Formats: sequence, C-alpha cells, structure tokens
Amino acid sequence: MSKQQFDTRLIHAGLPQVPLGGAVVTPVFQSAITHFEGEGDYHDIRYIRLNNTPNHLELHAKLAALEGAEAAVVTASGMAAITTALLTVLRPGDHALFCSTLYGGTHDFVTMDLPGLGIEVDFVDPQDRGAWEAARRESTRLLYLESLTNPLLEVPDLEGAVAFCREHGLVSMVDNTFPSPFNFRPAELGFDLSLHSATKYLNGHSDLVAGAAIGQGELVERVRRKLAHLGGSLDPHACFLLCRGIKTLAVRMRHHNHSALVLARLLTGHGAVASVHHPGLEEHPQHERAARLFDGASGMLSFELHGGVEAADRMINTLKIPIQAPSLGGVESLVTRPATTSHSGMSAEARAASGIADGLVRVSVGLEDAGDLVADFEAALGA
Ligand SMILES: *Cc1c(COP(=O)(O)O)cnc(C)c1O
Repeated sequence: MSKQQFDTRLIHAGLPQVPLGGAVVTPVFQSAITHFEGEGDYHDIRYIRLNNTPNHLELHAKLAALEGAEAAVVTASGMAAITTALLTVLRPGDHALFCSTLYGGTHDFVTMDLPGLGIEVDFVDPQDRGAWEAARRESTRLLYLESLTNPLLEVPDLEGAVAFCREHGLVSMVDNTFPSPFNFRPAELGFDLSLHSATKYLNGHSDLVAGAAIGQGELVERVRRKLAHLGGSLDPHACFLLCRGIKTLAVRMRHHNHSALVLARLLTGHGAVASVHHPGLEEHPQHERAARLFDGASGMLSFELHGGVEAADRMINTLKIPIQAPSLGGVESLVTRPATTSHSGMSAEARAASGIADGLVRVSVGLEDAGDLVADFEAALGA
C-alpha cells in the first residue's frame, strides 16, 4: 500500500456511507440496546457486547483497511484481543509455539492459563526456523510471534513464519503493537491474524485501554463470536476516542520514527553508552530485514550504559523531559528500566538468558522536539 493510500484510509475508511444525522464525525452511540428489527442471528442483535454499534463498525472497517486485511474487531484491551484470539483457535489437546520474548501479560497467560485448559506450549527462538521445525508436533495448531520484540527490538523471521505456517497448515499470529500498522502490515506478508494493544500507538494519547485483532475474514468472525461469549468488548465512548486517535497515526508515526532514529544515533556515538538497540540503525542485526519489511523502525529504542544499573538510574533521574513510566506509544516520551517494570516478573537468570541486562533502559520516544530530547539525554548522560 502506498503511503498516500495509507494516510487517506486513516481519515476516511470506515465512515458510514450515509452520514449519521449529517455528522462528519461519528458521534458516540452510548446505547446498550437498540430496537429489535427482526435480526435472525444472535450475533446480529445490536448490543454493545456484540461489538456492532456504529462506533465499532467504523473502527472494524478502518483497521482492516489500514493493514490491507479482510476484517478486524476491536476489544476492551490488548490482552482481550490476544487471549480471545488464542482461545478461538486452541482446544484441549492442542500444542502451540510462542516466541521466547513475549509481552509479559501474554507470557503469563500462556504459562499460567493455557496448560490448565489442556493446551501444551513451547517457546522458540523467533529467528530460528529450524527450532520451530524441531518443536512442531502433530498437535501443533499455531505459531505466535511479536513483530518487534520487547525490549531488545529484534525483528523475527517474519517471512519464514508465514512460509512455515503455510507448509504445516498452522495459524500464523503476530502481535503488531510495536511497529503499528503504519510501519508494518502483517496481512500483506500473509499472516492470518495481527493483534494490537491499541492502547499504544494506535490510540497514541495514553488515555485509554483497547485492543484489536485484524486479519483473515473467517478467523476474525470466529474471534468476534468468542469475544461476545468472553465479554471483552470495547465501550462505545472508548471506540470514539480510539477512532479519533487513529486518524493522526501517520503524522505521529513519521515523527516517532524520525526522532527515535536521531536519538539512537546520538546514543550510539556517546562514550557513556555500551550498546543501543533500534532496528533503524545500520548495525542492528536485523536492519536489512526491517528496512525491507517495515516502513519505519518505530519510536522504541533501548540501550545499556557502561556504568550499569547505577548509571542508568542516575541518568533516568536526571532526565527532564521523558516521564519515568512503563508502556509506550503516546505523545509523551517515556523511559523505564525493564528489569524493574515490564520484566520484573522474570527471574534475574531468565532475564540474563534473554539478553535483558538489569541496567537496560527502554525509551518510548514521543512527539516532543527531537533536538530538545537529544539535548536532555546529552545533559543526563554527562551527569
Ligand atoms: C501493552 C501490550 C500488550 C497488552 O495490551 P493492553 O492494552 O495493556 O491489554 C500486548 N502486547 C504488547 C506488545 C504490548 O506492548
């Protein structure tokens, strides 16, 4: 999809054919129930939990158009999208492959909840197709990756994943939260389902929690029906806010992509910095893949200082612009030490085995002036 088409779809895709009451912006349909009009199927009854108010329908069409996919459904959170999608595909006796560097909430669900439902799981290196082949069983149903891993920002073998799943008849799923649909559209590569925490870049303003599942039409319809049973539906007012946020995704992502690369380059050249992780840097191990498959490297970066934890905390406490908080994808820059937040649930040994040093600092680069951010980091690194 050309960027022009993408920008235009952000604004116009999904708008009702006949403007509701002449409105240019779809108003909030805060009505739990609607008049019965002879709907034949339970899932066609108009009811907020059944994800079919005009606010839901606009978002579904918009999100599908953004990733060049057949269909989409919004959910009450990213975790609602992920857990509902997994429970749609997996049955007792099934086996599933997950990338070894999962988002913490997903990792907890996979390790704490799936086994109790009789579903077996294995964790595999997202770069190593041979390891997926070795772990595959007769009962394997799906491969689940994240299109940019957290917090080291590796780009998995995404093309290999699609080929592997097609060869063995598996469902291919990818959490596409970090790149956002602006930078990567999994359906165009052949993934069956892309999952999002819309809390992050899609909404972009750190003021709501939402999720989405985007992909192949029949599969998305099954997810929508499972969501109606599990109940993790998004409220119309949150739909309205999310729709408003999404319209500026392109202008925001261009700025995020640009500023993160500027900051990553500054850090790379700084004497206090030991290593920098950002797929836009030429020296990143999967830079070639990112440049080929992505339209930008996102606003996320992470780095280590020679001085370890102590130097990292000193720098974080000296920074004036970024707010110290986990999460990502909003207009404000955020800085966190994953060992104390997103990855504190892992043992120190497991973190070390995954290459996540205790002193690693993760930054979600916001929409402040890039020069101001560079100056702030330079001053804090010098402290
Ligand atoms: C935040 C996040 C989630 C969970 O999303 P919520 O909206 O908090 O439920 C899932 N995956 C990734 C990669 C995330 O960053």
